[in-house]
Amino acid sequence: MGLFNDLGKKFEKLKQTAESSADGEATHGCKECETLLYTDYDECPECGSDSVVPVRQD
Ligand SMILES: [Zn+2]
Repeated sequence: MGLFNDLGKKFEKLKQTAESSADGEATHGCKECETLLYTDYDECPECGSDSVVPVRQD
């Protein structure tokens, strides 16, 4: 029973993580490749461009 409970907790955590990433709360984005970013990068981790700009959140 203990094992089952541990697994249940892990799944719950995974679910919460997935939900919070799906919220689309990207704070920055790359103008070159349009990748959404969750941190302010000096260079885009995807294409290496320095066109990382803040995303306006209303
Ligand atoms: Zn990029």
